[in-house]
Amino acid sequence: MAGMACARTLLRRGIRPLLVAPQQEAATRGETLSFRASPYLETLGWLELLDAETALPSQGHYSVWGGGALRRGAVGHEEMPGWHLDRQRLEARMTTSLDADGVERIFAEARQLSRSPAQVVVELTDGSSIAAEFVVDCSGRAAVTSGADASLRRLDRLVACYSIFTLDNDVEAVAATLVEAVATGWWYTSMIPGGRMLVGLFTDSDLLPPGFRKDVKLWAEMASQTTAVSARLASLGIDLTASTELQFASATTVTATKLVEPRIVRAGDAASALDPLGANGLATALWSGIRAAESVARCILHDDAAAMAHYEQRFLQGIASHLATQTALYASENRFQDAPFWQRRRGLWLEN
Ligand SMILES: Cc1cc2nc3c(=O)[nH]c(=O)nc-3n(C[C@H](O)[C@H](O)[C@H](O)COP(=O)(O)OP(=O)(O)OC[C@H]3O[C@@H](n4cnc5c(N)ncnc54)[C@H](O)[C@@H]3O)c2cc1C
Repeated sequence: MAGMACARTLLRRGIRPLLVAPQQEAATRGETLSFRASPYLETLGWLELLDAETALPSQGHYSVWGGGALRRGAVGHEEMPGWHLDRQRLEARMTTSLDADGVERIFAEARQLSRSPAQVVVELTDGSSIAAEFVVDCSGRAAVTSGADASLRRLDRLVACYSIFTLDNDVEAVAATLVEAVATGWWYTSMIPGGRMLVGLFTDSDLLPPGFRKDVKLWAEMASQTTAVSARLASLGIDLTASTELQFASATTVTATKLVEPRIVRAGDAASALDPLGANGLATALWSGIRAAESVARCILHDDAAAMAHYEQRFLQGIASHLATQTALYASENRFQDAPFWQRRRGLWLEN
């Protein structure tokens, strides 16, 4: 998402980008696109890509958090609902749009970078290499450019353990998210276009019970101990034990120690991957993809090196504000005082 936003913005500034990524489809993980993303999509001319196939307008958020009652509203604060995404389809549409723009793409994986005063050389896993004036690293949580100069700082071990279910044709589901806090973490359910629902447990990887990764029944058993989530699943006729396999995705909070180095800029999760509880990662990926491209364009076209520093400063302010909100959200759940998942999150970011 960050890479595509960046490529389109560079092209519009008259700079020829080369998009490098392996040929693989994006995973659909029941992500919600925040309403905050709409001005960025509008800037990119991509707002119209949100249609019935790619994005369901959300009817709201519900949560059981900080008490046993089901409440309307996102965890911790009221906000305007956004969209429930089919990420794979949306990214396919963005790719088609970039192809129509004539953005050059190569399907490859970057292995490492080396920098000289005049250029950056990107070494690819197939043994070839590319020389570029600038590199914007949008490679996600693993951040291909991290290494000696900029390391990655991990703040937790959050992992999503999820499965996606297709609802029966005659079942009418409210297009809303539901988050429910439990001692081991939190459960999340969200609609996906095409009559599908994601059901997931977010917990720390070291807190998963032995054998959990291959044990759908244990996962279903843990879900059955929830109140609102299990009621929602029952009302939609979803039987978690019918899932053929559990999927896992790292959801750790990771931040690169430097967002900008000479000729290298990081955007999206490669710069800072934050807790999905805030449902802000995609909007941040779009924002930072656009802003990173603009700062590179200012450097190239106007010799304005300060643009990079300005981008970094804005991003760092955003991360600080997000981490403060994240700390407050976790602190607003006081029920599971003895549970390691919650103890770790009390004051975690302040201590680090
Ligand atoms: C389980 C889960 C649920 C989430 N829910 C939400 C949500 O509801 N709302 C929300 O806003 N956010 C959510 N997020 C966060 C959101 O998914 C991320 O913030 C977002 O995907 C970041 O986009 P990105 O473009 O920076 O990185 P990515 O989407 O990770 O894309 C990275 C790209 O880089 C490519 N790449 C990787 N390595 C290399 C390499 N070595 N060389 C070349 N290319 C490479 C990949 O193929 C990919 O195309 C969630 C995250 C998780 C894990």
